[in-house]
Amino acid sequence: LFVSFEGGDGAGKSTQARALADRLRALGREVVLTREPGGTPLGVELRQALLHGDHVDPRAEVLLYAADRAHHVASLVRPALERGAVVITDRYLDSSVAYQGSGRDLGADEVERISLWATGGLLPAVTVLLDLDPDVGRTRLTGDPDRLERAGDDFHRRTRAAFLARAEQDPGRWLVLDATLPVDELAAHVFARVAAAGGF
Ligand code: C5P
Repeated sequence: LFVSFEGGDGAGKSTQARALADRLRALGREVVLTREPGGTPLGVELRQALLHGDHVDPRAEVLLYAADRAHHVASLVRPALERGAVVITDRYLDSSVAYQGSGRDLGADEVERISLWATGGLLPAVTVLLDLDPDVGRTRLTGDPDRLERAGDDFHRRTRAAFLARAEQDPGRWLVLDATLPVDELAAHVFARVAAAGGF
């Protein structure tokens, strides 16, 4: 079973991904908890270049995220799914469609096509959107903001709207949750949906 978490910075994706992994492991399931960008050694290098390097041309940025994703799916995600593990990823291709496609205005459809080509068409069974006002998300962030966290308000508002619009188009895959709910309540909603999808 393949599960992704999406949403803006500070929405609590990593916390919820970890909570879901812990709960499934307690049930005896093999869980691979991973993230994009940076789920593989090559991905760690790409993440460094994308988030902490010099300015990257927007089209090059799309392709670097796609390269990270292609390698991640081929070397980690697909093999894990084939042996029956649950794979939980903190961000997946919907982040590219929202951030590069809508946020950077490169065209959501084109970015989606590139992402699907990169992954051989692999989509999650469940995608959890932790929806949050970007102004609230910013106040939750700690440490040094990376290049994208410092992007303008418009950018973050466009990506939020893009996530919500995608979720509305495919309610069978998406679970949209208000990220301001208490952590335990969110975790219970996520688990119920994932358990139903996986039959456990
Ligand atoms: O969620 P995480 O902290 O790993 O994301 C790192 C940064 O990369 C965030 O600021 C996010 O907005 C950005 N990002 C992006 N495009 C993607 C994935 C992440 O701009 N496809």
